[in-house]
This record gives sequence, C-alpha cells and structure tokens, in this order.
Amino acid sequence: MARIEREFWIDRDVALQAAEEWLAELGEADSGATSRRLIVLIAAVRIHRTDPGQIATDVQQILGWAEQHGEVALQSRCHDVLGSVFEMVGDRALALEHAVTANDLLDESETPLMRAAARKCLADALGSAGSLDEARRRYDDALRLVIDDPETNIRYIILNNLAFTEHLAHNQVEALAAVDRLVGLSELSDRQIGMSARDTIARIYLTVGRIDEAEQMLLTAMDPAISDAHPDSSAAALVALAQLYRLDGRLEKAQLVIDRCRDIAQRNGLNRWLTETTREQAETHAANDDYRFAFEAYRHYHEQFEALGASENEARGRILDAMFQTAESRRESDRYRELAERDPLTGLHNRRFVDEHLGLALMRLREGGPELAVAMLDLDHFKRINDTFSHEIGDEVLRAIGRILIDAVWAVPGGIAARLGGEEFLLILPETDANQARAVFDELGRTIADFDWWPITENLPVTASIGVAVAPLDGEHTSDLLRAADTRLYVAKQAGRNQVVHA
Ligand code: GH3
Ligand code: MG
Ligand code: MG
Repeated sequence: MARIEREFWIDRDVALQAAEEWLAELGEADSGATSRRLIVLIAAVRIHRTDPGQIATDVQQILGWAEQHGEVALQSRCHDVLGSVFEMVGDRALALEHAVTANDLLDESETPLMRAAARKCLADALGSAGSLDEARRRYDDALRLVIDDPETNIRYIILNNLAFTEHLAHNQVEALAAVDRLVGLSELSDRQIGMSARDTIARIYLTVGRIDEAEQMLLTAMDPAISDAHPDSSAAALVALAQLYRLDGRLEKAQLVIDRCRDIAQRNGLNRWLTETTREQAETHAANDDYRFAFEAYRHYHEQFEALGASENEARGRILDAMFQTAESRRESDRYRELAERDPLTGLHNRRFVDEHLGLALMRLREGGPELAVAMLDLDHFKRINDTFSHEIGDEVLRAIGRILIDAVWAVPGGIAARLGGEEFLLILPETDANQARAVFDELGRTIADFDWWPITENLPVTASIGVAVAPLDGEHTSDLLRAADTRLYVAKQAGRNQVVHA
C-alpha cells in the first residue's frame, strides 16, 4: 500500500494501474480497509478526469464505513480527497474543513511523504481561503518533510502551489523566490519542469517583464507530444503564450498559438480553456484593428462564458446533492445541512430551508397545530443602489437588512428569516395571529426606513415593501400562503412602496 501511495507522487497512471490490479486480485475476498483504501486512491487519480460528483458520493460512503470501523488512516485519505473535490467546485469553507480534518487524523507513524501531502492539501485550502501566513507555514512544513526525496514530484508541486498562491496574493517578490527555488531544484536534479508549473512560472515572469524567459517556459506546450499527454495544462499555457505575443506586438505568432490552443481545447472538451481562447481571439482581432471580427469573437466569448458559469454551478449543485444523499446517517450531516441551508451573503436561511420548514409547519397546522404568519419583503428601488454606487455597496445593504430581519424575528420563538434570492426575503412567525403579525411587521417596515443608512448609501434611502399573510386564514398550504403574501407585496409596490399590506 505504501508503495502504491508513493507511486501516486511519481506517476499517477502507474499508481492507478497498480491499484486496479490489486483491487481485482482482492475481488470479493476483502471487504475491509485495504480495498477501500485502494478505491480512495483511484478516486484521487480520477478526480480531475471524471464526474467529481460520483467520486464525492463514493468517498463519502467509504468515510462513513471508516468512521464506524475506527479506520483512522482511511478516514484521513477520504477527507483529503473530499477537500480536493470542494476546492475544485469552489466551496472554500468545506475544502478547508476537510483538509483540516485530514491533517488532524494523520498519525505521526505515517510516512513523511503522506504527511507532506496532507500539509500541502491544507496549505492549498488555506491559501485559497485567504490565510496566506498560515498557508506559507504549511508549505514550509511540507517541504521540510520531503526535503531529500529525489524520486517523487511532490516538492515541485509544493513549490508550484506556493508560487501560485503568492502570485494570486500579488506578492511578486515572494512568488519569484518560490519560482527560483523551483527552477533551481529542476536544474539540480536534472529534471524537466512539468507543464502546469511552467504556466505558473511564466505568468510570474510576465508580471516582472521577463518576457523571453516566460516565452521559453510556455513554448513547450506547442509540442504535440506534450499537449497530448497534458492537454489541460498545455491549453492554459498556450492562452498565456498567445497573450504574451499579442502584448508584445507579435500578432501572427499569437494567431498561430490561438489556433493550436483552440484545437487542443476542442478535442479534449476543455470548455474553460476554449472560452479563454475565444476571449484571447477577440483581443487579437482588436489588436489587428479587425474590430468587426473582434466584436463577433467577443460575443461568442460571452455566450461561452455564460454557458460555462451555468455548467459549473450545476456541477457544484450535483456534488452537494450527492453529499446529502449519503451523508444523512453521518455525524456531520447536520452541520453540512446547516451550511447548505444558509445564504452565504447574509447568513440567513435560504429558500430550500423555507420550503422544508414551512411545509412541515403547515402540515402540523392542518393536524390541529398552531397558526402562523408569513411576510414577503422586497427592497424598494434596489437596482438604484447598485447603479448609483456599486454591487458591493448593494451587498452591504443586503447584509445590514439580514441583521435587521434576524433582530425582528428574534423575539418570536421559532421565528425564521430567509433570503429567497436577490433582494427578496421571507419571514415566518410561528404561533402568531393577524394582530400580532401586524404589530411585528409594521414595526419592521419602520425600522428599515428609520435605520441609519448614511454610512452605506449616504442620502439614498433604503425602504422595503412588505406583504403579510396568515394561516389558516389565507390558506393552509405553502403555495396559497405565499401567493397571498406576494399579491399584497405587489399591492404595496403599486401603492407607492415603503409600506406593509395586510389582509
Ligand atoms: P422595486 O422597488 O420594484 O422592487 O425595484 P427594484 O429595483 O428593487 O427591483 P428589481 O427587481 O428590478 O431589481 C432588483 C435588483 O437587485 C436587480 C439586481 O441587480 C439586484 N440584485 C439581485 N441580487 C443581488 C445581490 O446579491 N447583490 C446585489 N448587490 N444586488 C442584487
Ligand atoms: Mg425584487
Ligand atoms: Mg426590489
């Protein structure tokens, strides 16, 4: 097992093959930790090659088993892979949580390589979560653990990630220092720098104007043998190379590189890099004064970009769904659930939570349970705030509204404030009749209008329109109740906004 796990850091395809062979050999005979550890290792190799949602589900299941059977080393590897999955889909909080747990569970008796790998994973997660100092310390730890390990490529990956993290944080001096160590290491051990590290190095060279060296780093990606073996990182490098030529005025070369990059991206289904290539194409047409073509390429880029956003969001949703299906029986399931049912901007509950919660409360009501009141709230002329100031200021307002709503429902036991989306909110007050609802929501409307918005929006007022409905008077089902509240919200808008409309 140690040999195969080591091979992962030398040649992933070799590791994959060895793990699959062993797994086939074990067959049905093994129903314990060994086969599961192999499956997790295979998942770690495949993570960038297939549907990460399926991998998340499988690994989550194995994690549940490992927890039940006290297999700590296996648990740690599961958390490691799950950390990478969440990093990939951009959920930094969960990525960090898994990376931390992977480290905590790792025994000092593990090989230095495995300990370094876990530190590296944690450093990556810390870096993308913005904790730069913490990330640096973990990268240093990791490097120290594998300082004389000439066989694996882990030191290159650690230095590459360190350089990239510094680069993203705009620390060019530190980024260059990491690059120098990386290049020095490769010269010392007479070993080629991998394609993804080349891309990082070139981007850093470019920020300090070392154009020729950057070009040399990236040109390798034009070699078909290299780009066939590493299409993803080669496409990334070629986008950077095209940009380099364009900015340097070598437009014919830029076009050659763009054509090659488009070909690689298309053949390998690399939508992200295909989109980047189209953007670079638009820029190159513009640099050639071909504004008509530039416009058309740009429009094409915009379409690709939108489609890309949708598919990335879909992937993220699928993974989260997959996690919940298998996480139900797990200790942490409540915490994950809580996270998924909160709106990240305001910390309020989200629509999914409301749907479940309101459905249950109304079911209880139909079975003779207590009445309840809801209010639909929409900010007035919110677009004006975004347009006058910025989206960030708009977000500030939404956060402040979130705090006001939490205060408003605080006094009512079981009261809930949720963000349905955009600048629309829903409040649910259990055991509240029409009169009590009137008191609470009228007060809320005044609180929002009277709030000191000056520090955020200066002389632009912030107000809300509110529509109130109560069950069972307005209905005993979610749809009836929300429709009644929505209709009254519309009436409030029509009547001039900044008001609360009841039955
Ligand atoms: P009305 O009084 O009729 O409700 O006018 P309005 O401008 O509030 O309504 P409209 O629905 O036309 O505009 C809502 C705006 O909210 C549009 C959108 O740009 C903005 N918005 C939606 N979600 C967010 C967000 O998360 N942050 C910010 N800053 N703005 C958002
Ligand atoms: Mg609206
Ligand atoms: Mg509005």
